[in-house]
This record gives sequence, C-alpha cells and structure tokens, in this order.
Amino acid sequence: MKRIGLLTSGGDAPGMNAAIRSVVRNAVWHGLDVMGFEQGYEGLMDGKCVPLDARSVGAIIHRGGTILRTARSERFKTEEGRTRALHQLTACGVDGLVVIGGDGSFRGAWELHKLGVPVVGIPATIDNDVAHCDMTIGCDTALNTALEAMRRLRDTASSHDRLFIIEVMGRNCGYIALHTALSGGAECVLVPERPFDIQKLCDGLRRSRASGKSYSLVVVAEGAISGHDLKLRLAECGGYDARVTVLGYIQRGGSPSAYDAALATRLGAFAVDRLLAGSSGVMASLECGVPREVPLPQTWEDRRGLKEELMELVERLSI
Ligand code: ADP
Repeated sequence: MKRIGLLTSGGDAPGMNAAIRSVVRNAVWHGLDVMGFEQGYEGLMDGKCVPLDARSVGAIIHRGGTILRTARSERFKTEEGRTRALHQLTACGVDGLVVIGGDGSFRGAWELHKLGVPVVGIPATIDNDVAHCDMTIGCDTALNTALEAMRRLRDTASSHDRLFIIEVMGRNCGYIALHTALSGGAECVLVPERPFDIQKLCDGLRRSRASGKSYSLVVVAEGAISGHDLKLRLAECGGYDARVTVLGYIQRGGSPSAYDAALATRLGAFAVDRLLAGSSGVMASLECGVPREVPLPQTWEDRRGLKEELMELVERLSI
C-alpha cells in the first residue's frame, strides 16, 4: 500500500479533525501518501481531492467541524455513482480508504469494500448510535454542550418557578437525551426507543410540585416528540405553560472534549494500522476500552439499545 484516501461523511461531529490529523500523521509515519476527498462521497465521485501531509493537518486537533467538509449523497447510493467513485480512486492511485462517519457512511464504505476497495471506518457522529463501540467521536462533546445549556436553563427555570422543555438531537437514538437528563438532573426524559404516556408525565410533574419542587426540567429527544408539540400536549393535558428550548445544531459545533480528541486520535491511528495489516470492511473501534476491529455490517445490524436501568434511575431520582 502506497497511498490512502480519507474522507468525512454524513453529519459532522466534533473530533473529526482530530481523527483526520491522526490518520494523516500515522500514515506519513508509515511512509504512505494521503489524499483527502472533500465533501464525503460526493467529492470522491467527482475526484475532488487534496494531498495531505503532516503540516496540512497542523493546528486542527482542537477545531470542530471537518476541514475536508462533509456531505450526504444520494448519487453514491446508486451503482453508477459507486462505479464512478471506484474509477476516481484508481485515477488518484489510492489503494486504501479511511471513512470517518456514522452508520450511513459505513453502509457506503461496505459497498466499496464489496467492490474490492480496502476500507476502514472510524465512528464519528454525535448520536452514539453505532453498535460495538464504547462511544462515537463527537458524542461526549455534544453531551457536554447539552448539559451546559441545561444548567443555564435550570438557573432561569428555578428563578421563575417554571417548567422547561429542552429538546436535544436524536432522531432514532435517545443516548444524548438520556445522558443529558442523567447528568443534568432532569425531572423526566423522553426518547424515541420508548413510547411515552402524556398522562403519566403530567401526573409525575404534579406529584413533584406537590412534594415542594418549584420548577421542572424535561429533556426530550427530537425523535420522541418535538419540544413544541410536547408543550401543546402538556398544556392540553395538565394546563402547563412550559417554555421550550430547541438546542438544534448548536450540539454539532465546538472544540472536541478531551475524551473526543483522545478517542479520535486513538482511532485515527488504529484505522491506518489496520489498513496496513490488510484489514478491510471493518470499523476501528474501542470496545470496553480495548482497540478492536468490527465487521462493518455489525455496526448497523446489531443494536446498541438504551440502558433501561438508566431511564429508571432518572425517574427514581426525580422525587
Ligand atoms: P451518517 O454517516 O452520519 O450516519 P448518513 O446516514 O446521512 O450519515 O450517510 C451518509 C452517506 O452515506 C449518505 O448520504 C450516502 O451517500 C451514504 N450511504 C448511506 N447509506 C448507504 C447505502 N445503503 N449504500 C451506499 N451509500 C450509503
């Protein structure tokens, strides 16, 4: 192997740049050339690439977003698109590829692997919805952003004796919501994995008011119900006048936390080591703290699942 390609794909996540730096520097250390493809699979199909060396990834370890930029691509989901990508890889002399992204990006990477391209994935998405890795790159930072917002909202909620709804990201996965609720001390958390009962929620809020609480914080994942719809339901059901804060894309930005920067640095280097060892169609992962490679299909076929005992703990401690 002489030259590897590198791209970031899907939703951006804090720590992607730290992973890029680590991939490039470890590759250079091994004597490889690196080509960075811009805007994910879109740039790959169009041959939009830049040579990367040790200096071109200087001073990015702390930066949010991705210097390679990212995109979603419908074109790449077609056979024609992937054939085009294959031609571009050959034209650029790339004989191995590192894909930094979430499970969608890994499905794309698997298709390239099936076409004979040696490919290793690095899990990076704020959602933490990839199986067989302790954490995806970016999730810890997003959680800290949501927690900081929740602490600020607690200040105003407690001063005005108000009910606040905090909507966080998570279309299919309630990880951010659950862990924000857990670490921020929410009254209640709603996640996409678990149906909720509005009457039960109202009863819980009523009980906590009766027990002397003057304000409440409810965390909701966008995939469970929107914060604004929940406000309407709470008004209908319990006469509540909740304030809603939708954190939205704020959760995607910012410098990676120490955890994310270190995780990205470890996985970036590990991905290159695995490519050089002849692995393909795998994700570079830390599982129970141990570096390991996981066949890509397992990352989306197996489910992480939500820890029911943590849902129960939020509820138990909200008395
Ligand atoms: P993430 O990687 O963050 O989960 P997406 O789910 O949007 O983000 O996936 C990123 C990109 O990966 C998609 O826009 C598409 O180009 C590619 N992709 C997703 N699923 C497939 C698939 N089944 N086959 C080929 N490419 C796919």
